Amino acid sequence: MSDPEINNDTFKEKLLKLREELIASDEASRDSTKAVMLDQSAVGRLSRMDAMQGQALSLEVKRRRAIRLDRIAGALQRIENDNFGDCLKCDEAIPLKRLNFDPTAFLCVQCAEKAGQ
Ligand SMILES: [Zn+2]
Repeated sequence: MSDPEINNDTFKEKLLKLREELIASDEASRDSTKAVMLDQSAVGRLSRMDAMQGQALSLEVKRRRAIRLDRIAGALQRIENDNFGDCLKCDEAIPLKRLNFDPTAFLCVQCAEKAGQ
């Protein structure tokens, strides 16, 4: 059962905005990765290490962003399927407060705690 207070349209808008922001920041970071690679060929060992650290960092950021995009896609799919806001494990309604905090949440508090998320 869906929480009657959950407004799918509102959440859809939120999720689409989140996705836009993620994609925009991805494009911004692509530029900075390019800058790092240019630096690497031109400078000494110390700053090369900095550059490598920066690259590892941006890979990590990228990985997290991909997970985030995945979760957004999943949430949008649940809106389409009309089961947005239901816990994927136990089918209980996810509290609106939790969804407002993270619209991509797909587990209720209890199940999330059990899953260690
Ligand atoms: Zn649950």
